[in-house]
Amino acid sequence: MPSGEVILEARDLVKHYPIKTGVIRRTTGHVRAVDGVSFDLHRGETLGVVGESGCGKSTLGRMLMRLEEPTGGSLRFGDVDVYSQSGAAMRRLRRDIQIVFQDPYTSLDPRKTVGDIVVEPFQIHPDFLPRNKWRARVRELLDLVGLNPEHINRYPHQFSGGQRQRIGIARGIALNPKVLICDEPVSALDVSVQAQVVNLLESLQDELGLAYVFIAHDLSVVRHISDRVAVMYLGKIVEIGDDQQIYERPTHPYTQALQSAVPVPDPAVRGQREQIVLQGDVPSPANPPKGCRFHTRCWKAQAICATTEPPLAVASDGAGEHAVACHFPEVRAAIAP
Ligand code: SF4
Repeated sequence: MPSGEVILEARDLVKHYPIKTGVIRRTTGHVRAVDGVSFDLHRGETLGVVGESGCGKSTLGRMLMRLEEPTGGSLRFGDVDVYSQSGAAMRRLRRDIQIVFQDPYTSLDPRKTVGDIVVEPFQIHPDFLPRNKWRARVRELLDLVGLNPEHINRYPHQFSGGQRQRIGIARGIALNPKVLICDEPVSALDVSVQAQVVNLLESLQDELGLAYVFIAHDLSVVRHISDRVAVMYLGKIVEIGDDQQIYERPTHPYTQALQSAVPVPDPAVRGQREQIVLQGDVPSPANPPKGCRFHTRCWKAQAICATTEPPLAVASDGAGEHAVACHFPEVRAAIAP
């Protein structure tokens, strides 16, 4: 259970994108990418955010860095109301909340050397460090993320995928942020390399006291790094809880389905496990189902599910940090992997 002070407080975050059609580009609807998301992130904590593609998790990550302006809701970083800041105050705030992007193949400029890439944050925030110290700090950062500082003049194509993600992480931590948004940082990497990057993020967290929002599309990736996990479906959090609550006693049917798909290495255990295969596709976020958004795919749905949206409420296991959005929450003991 998180114990540190709340460093990031998101309340009812909403991001709707207008759908424009016709010659005069009339607004004919909205894509509800993020639709009322609230959570606290504590100092030094890792919050995993998991869901299928299109559930709004990456948009949420970008909203936390204000790379997307909100349609509604509020975000506080400590005492600061993030969305009311502008100009120099917002730039100052950006030092404290940084992001590592998903794809190390496209997020690094192929024409720039590693040194040029990692020095960029100092160029954007020139008052952070005297100019004559930039180069030495870049070498330190490369060393910190497990890269050879002697390779400072190499280009991204001269590195492997995992090494490129380390370059992105070096850039992300250059300004000593308090919060690092990790937007699917290992999805584009081989499984064997994923573990190395996750281990690196864990050791950096211990060393630097960072808080992470770690976005991923499946539960297995976030398990070892997350203190708590938020499961998203069609723009909303449907369940949030700690490791045991999400992995050992998943309560929302969608979490149960995701959990049942987590690979189990032991064939004997795998044989006992009931895999829940969801029927149908994720509905369009431009036209989400009424009532519970999951009801079109939920095997437990009843009449009320199609008409009344369930609130995200404290789960019946009595743990205040465990919340579930379901009219019929039912604890399902998972077979531990
Ligand atoms: Fe399924 Fe109904 Fe719960 Fe939604 S509210 S997850 S449809 S049982």
